[in-house]
Amino acid sequence: MAECWICSTCGVQYGESEAPPARCFICEDERQYVGLAGQAWTTASELRTSRRNVFVSEEAGLWSLRTEPAFGIGQRAYLIQTGEGNLLWDSVSLVDEESVARVRALGGVRAIAVSHPHYYSAMADWSGAFGNVPVYVHEDDRVWIAQPCAGLQFWSGEQLELFGGLRLVRSGGHFAGYQVALWPDGANGAGALFAGDQPQVCLDKRWVTFMYSYPNWIPLNGTAVKRITASLAGLPFDRLFGAFGRNIVSDAKAVIARSEERYLRAIAG
Ligand SMILES: [Zn+2]
Ligand SMILES: [Zn+2]
Repeated sequence: MAECWICSTCGVQYGESEAPPARCFICEDERQYVGLAGQAWTTASELRTSRRNVFVSEEAGLWSLRTEPAFGIGQRAYLIQTGEGNLLWDSVSLVDEESVARVRALGGVRAIAVSHPHYYSAMADWSGAFGNVPVYVHEDDRVWIAQPCAGLQFWSGEQLELFGGLRLVRSGGHFAGYQVALWPDGANGAGALFAGDQPQVCLDKRWVTFMYSYPNWIPLNGTAVKRITASLAGLPFDRLFGAFGRNIVSDAKAVIARSEERYLRAIAG
């Protein structure tokens, strides 16, 4: 029976086929890794029987969802609610009836945007579950799409206005088409930035960092880091929602500025 195969290590879903793909090109890239036991696959239907998504209210107009027990690289998605519709930011691999009903009760999804390939997961199925809503991916990451879908929309340039004040900003770095989302109404109107894993909030949450590969500890060079911070500098935000539930509640711009300075000092020859 044809199945949608999902890489167990990175959580990216591939299109329907009888047998799993020979390899996961996202895990074989030097920014990820193939698991120690070799390439492993699961299926969308298996995931639906073994796991569920947990929804958490993060602040007014914002819900996070993550899969438990944890799957892939522990991706989490956010549902950002605006008066003009909701954005599903980033994505998780599990799409089940219960989650779709929950999201529908929260106002549904008008569009999806995903920071970079490590979070693509089952974005195609999320789009399909809500009538093939647009999935915004930056043109520069087109080569990383594992499962094309009707909603996919590639954009080019540096910024893309969405709706409800939401904006996508291409910052590059970790991936050429890396994008973050700005929600100006977040943090009680002070503005919130959805960064995914770049800048990555450190375990000491007074700091962030910038890496080409997080699992393989490959740093970005100074030019790339300066480009990232320049792309964020003019945006109105005070709060930063990072990957893995590590967030900077306030003063995120000062955190980024002093982290950039520390980082550039650390890599200076
Ligand atoms: Zn993979
Ligand atoms: Zn990543």
